[in-house]
This record gives sequence, structure tokens and C-alpha cells, in this order.
Amino acid sequence: MANQDDNLLKKIVAHAKEYGFVFPSSEIYDGLGAAYDYGQYGSELKNNIKNFWWKAMVQMHENIVGIDAAIFMHPTTWKASGHVDAFNDPLIDNKDSKKRYRADVLIEEYIAKIEGKIKKEVQKAAKRFGDSFDETQFLATNGRVIEYNAQIKSINDRMKSAMETEQLNELKTLIEDLGIACPVSGSKNWTEVRQFNLMFSTELGSLAEGANTIYLRPETAQGIFVNFLNVQKTGRMKIPFGIAQIGKAFRNEIIARQFIFRMREFEQMEMQFFVKPGEEMKWYDHWKEKRIQWHKILGLGEDNYRFHDHLNLAHYANAACDIEFNFPMGFKELEGIHSRTDFDLKAHEEHSGKKLQFFDPQENQNYVPYVIETSIGLDRMFLAIMSASYKNETLEDGSERVVLKIPPALAPVKVAVLPLVKKDGLSEKAREILETLKFHFNCQYDEKDAIGRRYRRQDAIGTPYCVTIDHDTLQDHSVTLRDRDTTKQERIPISELTNRIEGLVSINTLLQKL
Ligand code: ATP
Repeated sequence: MANQDDNLLKKIVAHAKEYGFVFPSSEIYDGLGAAYDYGQYGSELKNNIKNFWWKAMVQMHENIVGIDAAIFMHPTTWKASGHVDAFNDPLIDNKDSKKRYRADVLIEEYIAKIEGKIKKEVQKAAKRFGDSFDETQFLATNGRVIEYNAQIKSINDRMKSAMETEQLNELKTLIEDLGIACPVSGSKNWTEVRQFNLMFSTELGSLAEGANTIYLRPETAQGIFVNFLNVQKTGRMKIPFGIAQIGKAFRNEIIARQFIFRMREFEQMEMQFFVKPGEEMKWYDHWKEKRIQWHKILGLGEDNYRFHDHLNLAHYANAACDIEFNFPMGFKELEGIHSRTDFDLKAHEEHSGKKLQFFDPQENQNYVPYVIETSIGLDRMFLAIMSASYKNETLEDGSERVVLKIPPALAPVKVAVLPLVKKDGLSEKAREILETLKFHFNCQYDEKDAIGRRYRRQDAIGTPYCVTIDHDTLQDHSVTLRDRDTTKQERIPISELTNRIEGLVSINTLLQKL
């Protein structure tokens, strides 16, 4: 299974590059680690995802507004948020290969190997017992599996305790006890474990002297917190209300890999919802429900999502979960939903000396609101869509195609306008139709090569509809409309084309399901 999925990720990376979705950043200089550029179709898809999120969160809610804060913020912001002191990863270097690793990831990979062994035991037993195989019972009773699970638990407990108490030497001892070797050199010659802050820093001002260290924001949330009062006052917002934002965030990730899943420069779509203290659990459940619904109406497969509740909560949270998606690498975090208490606003009050409170006329008192956050990585959402949409299919006529079954409302190009041949006035007629459609949809015109090859090109970039103009069109003013997913063609009058396509590809079709 693992191999097959690795292959899927490789295929998606290659397809994304070949068809103008995602390129390695500055590729002519051999690229830059964990930085990617979105190409002509990728940026369209990205914009459509943003649009869908923004509309669902802002436009559809009277009490949510959006902002666009600067990436650079006053350095005290990051002191108050805890990022200067605590946004760290534990690092370890192998002395022979000089390669650097996250100590916790080395341990997690070791655990994953044991999990792999459990999976193998299950597969072997399933084969042996056939139809009568009961996986749950097997997992609970098989001696070897019980032993493996006990090992996993013991390693996890040691790792968590070392991380929580910041016993970095204990992490190193654990790596040594497990006999973990560097995947590159194969040696177990490790340095001590050190904490490494993930924030990128730079200097403000042209003079090095007196220059201030500032940071590229590692999350967009703080831009919302510092504007809480500005927005509340100018928007006359009443609790409960939300502030949404889409923007870049930067983290100096040590192990940045798995394509656009973990990058050093990425984009977040975040919403902070301010509520009355004591009501946060009700809103936490509300937003969990709302956010999973947003995902599911895209039709990428309900089984591809699952909630993962956090047992070890960050110091500022009183509840937290992830929405995980079934990526080619397995179920991984796509979105986080966190009940952040009043931690951030209180910390900014303390550091700024400004009151960040809400006067509640019903209670006739001021309070610092509690916050529920929904935070989704735009790039991870992009990868989720690509992973679920990428299909290798054999058609009825036996031919093969690669098709991206991107939800039509998010597809980069909505309609391709294709004259059957380049002559007999068909190109002119096709261009005439294009001139009307282009005011409504992102269209593409293509008259090169045989029609079958043109359909394949549109399938490969996920275009949901192709309009084909043939000789009959000149007489009956009708065209064929080809559906990407079924490949079925239907003849419809030109006069009905815009309305028909609109009903199939508009973002409203999704929003109405929310
Ligand atoms: P992870 O555990 O995978 O590092 P996180 O828990 O640190 O993620 P959050 O701080 O909760 O992530 O950020 C919210 C969202 O931002 C994540 O759910 C993810 O979709 C996205 N995100 C975080 N880090 C990255 C990254 N390096 N590259 C791309 N997206 C990211």
C-alpha cells in the first residue's frame, strides 16, 4: 500500500509540473528547498479555493468580517504570543553525514515502522483466515500485536514526557536506546539535541546599528488579535463575531518535504471567532461541524476526512482538534480547530498596556472574549484536491486518460471552446461563442490537433466542460457540451449555454449546500 501511495504522490508532483500547476521555486537555479511557485492553472485553482473559503466564511455570515494585515508586525507581538520563547523544534545532527533532523520526527518514524509491522501481521492474518477474519478481535488478542503496541506506548510516553519537560538529553537518550541510525550515513553518531526557533528573522531599517530584529509572521492569527479593537469598534461588531484573514505565513521548517504539504513559505486561511467566556465549548462544537461540512460538500469523498482530537493541549488551548485528510502519505492534518481561551488577547493587553475588551450591554460589564480559531493551510487544501482528483482511467473505447476530477466550481478553466476543424468558418463561430462565455467563465480556446487529443488536454487540467462547434452548429445554432467526468456529450442551443454552464460550475452551487 505504502508504495502505491508514494507513487501517487510522485505522479501528482510530476503532473502538477507538466501541466502548469506547481513548479519548484527558482527552478533554473535548481530550486530552493520547500519553496514552490504556482503556475498558470495552479494559481487559478488556488484563487478559487480562497474565494470559496472567503465566501463561505465572510459573505455567508453577517457577523464575520475579513481583514488583510501586514506580514511584518511589531516584534513585541511575537513575544506576547509566545513564539519568541516557545516556537521551537528539537534538532539533532548526525556527525558523520552532517544531516540535521527533528529529534521527535526520528522517533515518530521509528514508531511508524512498528506500526508497519502491525499492518503486516494484519495482512498476513487476513489472508490466512479469509472471510472469517475479524480485525478488531485480532488486534486485541494477537500476542505479537499486543507486544508491538506496548512498545509504541512506552516510546510515546517517554517522548512526550521529555518534550513537555524540555529534557532534551532524555530525547537523545531515547534515540540512542532505540538504536536509531541516520538514514544517510547509517551511523548512530549523534550530537546533543538543541531547540531551534522556527521564525525567520530580518532587520527593519537600512542601518544595521539600531536596527530592530523583526520576524516574518509564522501564523496569520496575530494580525487578527492586534486588530481586534479596531475591527470591533469600526465595524460595530457584537459578540459573538469573527475576523477572517487569508495570507502568507513563514516557518523555517527543518524537515520540509512531501511537496506542498510542508513548506517554508505557505498560505493560511484563518478565522478567529470571539465569544463570551463560558460559551466557548458550544462554539467550538459549532465550528467543528461547520468546517467539516465545508470540506464534505466538495465531494472529495467523505471517508477521506477524520477528526483527530488533541490530547496534549498547547498551553493556551482548552480544546483542540485537527481535520485530517487522507493524503497519498496517509491521514495528515489539513485544518486545525482550536479553543484558544483568552490567552492571546490577554497577553497583548499585558504587553501593550491597551485594554482589548468588549463591553457587553446585556451583562453591563467588560470582558476579554474567548476565541475559537479555525485555521486551514491553503496549500494543503490544494494538495488534498489534487490527490482526490487525480485519476488514471481506461475509457469505454479502451483508451487511457489522466483526468483531474476537480470540483467544477474550483476548476481552473471552466469551459474549453473547440471548433471541430479549423476551416469552413467553424473557428470564427467558435470565437464568437468564446466572446460571450468569457464574461462569465475562465475559458480556453483550442483548435490545434484532433478533437480527441484536445479533450485529453482539458481532462488533464480538470476542465469540467468542453463546447464543441461542428458543421451542424452553423445551421442549427447548437453545440455539443461534453462532461469531463462521464465523457457524455449533449447537444444544446447556443442561447442556453451560459445559463446551463453557470448552474454547473458556479460557486453558489456549493454555497447553497452549506
Ligand atoms: P504541523 O503539525 O503539520 O506542523 P501545525 O499544527 O504546526 O501543523 P498550525 O500551526 O495549526 O499547524 O497551522 C494551521 C494550518 O496551517 C495547518 O493545519 C496546516 O494546514 C497549515 N500549515 C502549517 N504549517 C505548514 C507548512 N509548513 N506548510 C504548509 N502548510 C502548513
